[in-house]
Amino acid sequence: MKLGMFYGKVETYESDFAWLKKHGFDAVIGSDDLDFLAAARRAGIDGWSCLGTFNPPDDAPEHLCVDIEGKPRQWFFSGCPNNPEVREYALARYRTAASRVDAAGVFCDGTRFASPASGLEAFCTCFCKHCAQKAQTLGYDFEKIRKGVTEMYLRLRNGEPFISASDIDGVKEWLAFRANVITDFIGRISGIVRSKGKLFGGFFFTPGLSRLVGQDYRAIAGDMDIISPMLYRNFNEKGAIAPINTELHALASWAPGQNPNWVFEISGLSGQRIEKIDDLLMYGVSESAVKLETARTRSLIGKEKKLAPIIWWKDLNILQTVQEVKNGGADGVQIFIFTEESKKFLESLLQDGNNKLEFSVEK
Ligand SMILES: [Zn+2]
Repeated sequence: MKLGMFYGKVETYESDFAWLKKHGFDAVIGSDDLDFLAAARRAGIDGWSCLGTFNPPDDAPEHLCVDIEGKPRQWFFSGCPNNPEVREYALARYRTAASRVDAAGVFCDGTRFASPASGLEAFCTCFCKHCAQKAQTLGYDFEKIRKGVTEMYLRLRNGEPFISASDIDGVKEWLAFRANVITDFIGRISGIVRSKGKLFGGFFFTPGLSRLVGQDYRAIAGDMDIISPMLYRNFNEKGAIAPINTELHALASWAPGQNPNWVFEISGLSGQRIEKIDDLLMYGVSESAVKLETARTRSLIGKEKKLAPIIWWKDLNILQTVQEVKNGGADGVQIFIFTEESKKFLESLLQDGNNKLEFSVEK
């Protein structure tokens, strides 16, 4: 995959795919729909299914994560990664997706625990009985984790920066437990997808944020064929889940009186300079942060693994952002998301014959 497009429309594909092909796209990532995958194949483009991972099978509250006060918390349409019914439902969907003849492969999304943008209460999960049991099986002291996360929650709610929580007893174990659970589950879905002869890809938080949600690049690299950190750098919508700038904005918002630059220190993106928290929404993080996060992913996953970050289309400097992905050592790039609006935007950009969205890597 050199140039991929995340396909966000539900209607006819033929003319869209012809347009994408004409502009050099060799992959579309989208639904598990048979027509979508067949149309991609007819257009000579690789079609990939993308599945959310921990979507619960129904809206029963017992599938959801549980916060420190015992309340169910939904995050990113997801249930608890340790809930047996949620897990079985995921495995069944991955089995189905991997058996589609026209699919080049399957991407996993949301394979993690809750992130800061889902809210402080959801972030400080999960304390359900299944997590307690899993922690015990894996040798973690769940009560220590519960105490540590409770203290962390109270500190963050009182406006202290997250970095002050890193020395709390139990928080490190909480993060390690999250990573352990996610690494294990990625191994399971990878096994399902690859056993059907399909490639396995995944969308992940960038290295600066991934440890907060249980995604450990080093640990999962062996199970992946394509790794795609989500490098949406300038998503101007408060509370949006996954873009670097909105996740950092959520973290910074819990500590309103603090210098907002502390979130760059914790995410390893020092050098960004903002005056106030909302500048994170207005301006996002720089193109050079995209290069840095790409390079950090590369160093974590090794030279051989395919790396194709996904970037946000509404970026007036999108050509430079693509260049920075290249400079960071990626093999390809994907764009989120193909709609009538983004198509128009890209079309106007590409009208100038000097502008090209191409991704060739000289090795
Ligand atoms: Zn749980």
